[in-house]
Amino acid sequence: MDWKSILQHQSEWSAGTAAEHRLGVEEAIVLYDDAPLHLLMNAAHQRRVAMHGPSEVTYLVDRNINYTNVCTINCQFCSFYRPPGHDETYTQSFEEISGRISALEEIGGVRILMQGGVNPALPFEWYEELLSHIRTNHPSIAIDCFSPIEIEGIAEVSNLSTLEVLTRLKAAGMHGLPGGGAEMLVDDVRKDVSPKKGLPANWLRVMEEAQSLHLTTSATNVIGFGESNQQRVEHMRRVRDLQDASLSQHGMAFTSFIAWPVQLESNSFGRRNRGQNRVTLGAGSSEYLRHVAVSRLFLDSIPSIQSSWPTMGIKTAQMALFGGANDVGSTMMEENVVSASGTTKFSASEMELQHVIKRAGFTPVRRDSDYLRLETPDLGADSAPVPAPIPVQV
Ligand code: SF4
Repeated sequence: MDWKSILQHQSEWSAGTAAEHRLGVEEAIVLYDDAPLHLLMNAAHQRRVAMHGPSEVTYLVDRNINYTNVCTINCQFCSFYRPPGHDETYTQSFEEISGRISALEEIGGVRILMQGGVNPALPFEWYEELLSHIRTNHPSIAIDCFSPIEIEGIAEVSNLSTLEVLTRLKAAGMHGLPGGGAEMLVDDVRKDVSPKKGLPANWLRVMEEAQSLHLTTSATNVIGFGESNQQRVEHMRRVRDLQDASLSQHGMAFTSFIAWPVQLESNSFGRRNRGQNRVTLGAGSSEYLRHVAVSRLFLDSIPSIQSSWPTMGIKTAQMALFGGANDVGSTMMEENVVSASGTTKFSASEMELQHVIKRAGFTPVRRDSDYLRLETPDLGADSAPVPAPIPVQV
């Protein structure tokens, strides 16, 4: 098994000249280890073209809301949280949250991504009332909120199961459960960087429960903890296994896969790895692009692959559109979790996203949280010629 024949199979499948050939775990590791980046990206682009066509790239107008920074989980890579009792803790009031959503409505936004820490002081009723408040006052906004670890925290303080929590939050107005907190779904890595988060099986179980309730879900992945390529593929395998099971049992699964590198500033993980160790941590542009390309080929049953402009910068995010990504994410308006550990840009206007897409040669298409197409305003962003798909020759 060599990278050339693996890419050839993938290319022929994408071109429709050969039967489906699902990428195996060992094959993905070979591609990760050995395939030249430009050919790997080209094969991933071919797959993206086969799945989404050659010309469109989607984006979302939304807002992040980080409703509380109180957290008891102490992940080593997190600079956002404050432990209970710390004098920099905050929990936003319903009125503050509502004000943020009104600002989103003013720019035509359709979704909030509301996540925070695991705050043991908030009773279950607080979450239900918050969702009811948002649904009443902002009925056109999709509420994608919390993450599996927050759902586990809410279950613990309320003596409910995570499935009961999700069921009641859905009834109160929850639209989706974002994929935050997956990081690296490999036991050893997780035990090292966020031991109090529990094993990957917990994240996967809560996600499966959300999918059984037909909540909209996404899968995330943070790379650069010093893990091996095999462990990166192991993360993808666990995500793909759940995708397959949920599609077959619930008819609904992850909409998308979003990866980014761990940030190394201002957190205990970065401090612990000062010096020589550090060169092998995080991920530069080529490493990130390799990961995006392998994920497009491996995660054949996940529709969308997102490029990450907040962590990788606009230019690398554009490059990812030629290596498997078909979506540039969202406007965000604010971001306080990842940015606390080192990113510098955490808000983009709709025109900026359109500009990014057009200058890469694609047509921007506005979408909603479920990746359904919306009417796209012409904001006058510059465009560039649309590139023709490039046949893969290895
Ligand atoms: S990443 Fe989330 S769960 Fe971990 S410490 Fe930060 S806020 Fe808490």
